[in-house]
Parts: sequence; C-alpha cells; structure tokens
Amino acid sequence: MPTTLSRRTFLGAAATVAGGSLLPHSAYAAPAIRRSRVAGFAAVSSANGLRAVERAVRLMQEGTDTLDAAVEGVKIQELDPNDMSVGYGGLPNEDGVVQLDASCMHGPSRRAGAVAALEGIKTPSEIARLVLKHTNHIMLVGEGAKRFALSYGYAEEDLLTPRSRERWLRWRANRGAADDWLDVATDEPTGMRPTGTINCNVINEAGDLSSITTTSGLAWKIPGRAGDSPIVGAGQYCDNEIGAAGSTGRGESNILVCGGFLTVEHMRRGMAPTDACLETLRRVVAMTPPRLLGEDGQTDFQLTFYAVNKKGEIGAASLYPSRYAGHDGTTASIHDTASLYKGPR
Ligand code: ASP
Repeated sequence: MPTTLSRRTFLGAAATVAGGSLLPHSAYAAPAIRRSRVAGFAAVSSANGLRAVERAVRLMQEGTDTLDAAVEGVKIQELDPNDMSVGYGGLPNEDGVVQLDASCMHGPSRRAGAVAALEGIKTPSEIARLVLKHTNHIMLVGEGAKRFALSYGYAEEDLLTPRSRERWLRWRANRGAADDWLDVATDEPTGMRPTGTINCNVINEAGDLSSITTTSGLAWKIPGRAGDSPIVGAGQYCDNEIGAAGSTGRGESNILVCGGFLTVEHMRRGMAPTDACLETLRRVVAMTPPRLLGEDGQTDFQLTFYAVNKKGEIGAASLYPSRYAGHDGTTASIHDTASLYKGPR
C-alpha cells in the first residue's frame, strides 16, 4: 500500500539562491511574488489546491519529506468525488472511462515518476511516486500502469461517480445532431470542454523542493490521450538548485513548449517566479497555430503556470486572469494570477 519516501535514500542538495527578476511584468500582472515569512516553507498550487497547500506545508513543518507532503496535499482533490477534474469523480474520456495522468519530481534525489491513462486507481499521484521510488523507469502507461498499481495492493475501483456519469451521458447525448443519441436538456454550453488539474510545488526550510501534477485530463478526450500532466518537463518540473513549476490548462499547448522545464530555466536565468511563468506563456502564444487564435489574435484556450523558487517565493501567471493557491509558511490563501490578456476568455 502507499509508502513514504525514506529520507535516508535521498541526498540533500546545497541551496543556490536564484536572483531577482530580469523582466518587468506584463501590463496585467498581479503583484504575485510573495516571500516566505517562516524560513523556507512555501507551496503554490492551482486554485483548487488551497487544502493541498495547507496540508503539504503542515506536513513539511512536521518533518515530512517534500514529495510526500505534496502527494498528501493533492490526494485531497484526487479522493474528493466533487472535484470532477482529478482522480475519483474526474470526467471520463469519450468512451465514459476515467483515465488519469500524474507526474512528480523529488528535488533532493533528482528523480521523477509518472503514469498516464491509468484506469481504476483513485490516486495516480501515489502510483507516480511508486514509479519514482521503486523502478528504473520514469513513466508507465495504461494497462501496465494499472497492473503495477495492483501489485502494490491498490484496489481497482469504478472512478465514475453518479454525477460524473450523468455529465458524460449528457455530453454523449448532445454530441452531434446527426447521431443516434437523442438530445437532452443541458445548461452546459455546447462545445465546452471541461478541464481541470491540480499542480502543487513545495519547498521546505532546508530548501528542498518537490513538484506534482495530477489530473483526469481533458473531458471527453480520445481514449489513450495523455496530456501535459504526466509529461516530466511539461506538467511539472523541479530542479532542487533553482525551483519548481507546473501547469494546468490546455495540455497540448504546454507540451509544445515543455512549460514546466522552461519556467524553471527562466528562474535559473534570474527571473522571479511570476515573471518566469509569464515568459513561458509568451512562448506558448508564439507556438500557437492560427486555428487556436480568435479574431482578436488571442488564444481560445486557457493555460496557467505556477512556480516556486529556491528562496521560497511563489507566483503564478495565466493567459487569461485566474486564481491560484499559495502558502507562505504561515497562511494559505487564494490570489489573482498575473495574466497576458485582460478580461475573461
Ligand atoms: N492540463 C490538463 C490536460 O491537458 C487539463 C487541465 O489542466 O485542465 O490534460
């Protein structure tokens, strides 16, 4: 069953403090750089991660390893049947099957683990950590990932809840005018693709970092589709000398820029976390094909990056204004992201 990382198995890494920002914020930037008030402890997460950052920081303050703390944090959403974007209760693929993606990195040991298109297991974050901890591999997918989880005693369960099944049935019924499914009344905008994910990046007072991202991915996706969340370097990335970063939003657009890695690299060059996230978003826009741009030239999708640096500063930025959860070692709270574009999408 779930195991914790042995702290003895990981080498501590020397702290190298990143410098300040090189670039100014965009016109729509929120003052999102926050300094940890209690030496070192900090966490940043997507807005659904307020409970995650609270739990992760509390556990780190009690001495729990950074990755273990982050996993325990995101598991709150994975196990929450009311969060339809992550784990149990997550929205399924077009066949009505929930396929989960997750990846993680442990800064001190420079190790990574990931699972993609995992079915029947409620907590892919734990399975990604098992890959990290017990194998010579980094990513397991599909049936192999499930068998791997079962070998550790995890139970195979139906991940659809009555609510998520109901939403999928409504989507299938209304999918096309010319198909054999009779349309049903719905207040969900047609063509809307519900998304959602939790990313969480943490640092402890020793300056050790970890990162994790877990998701049920894009709703109604083609079976087998893996998004950015299980891709180390896209959905999340951690360098114990520099910082950690991760993402939520349109996964394919993140994969194209290796956004988790790129954001950490921007911090390596001295950018503060929010500036690093904004700079990565500029690259995303530059890589976006015309079919995904509106008449105003802006993207027709949302993408958000979250980052923490070696100093315990956190920040987040999105294409369109959004929110994120942060913990400065004392208090967990929700903040506005900086954004490239003004106003709602
Ligand atoms: N990034 C996730 C994916 O593409 C979805 C999301 O965060 O909304 O699978």
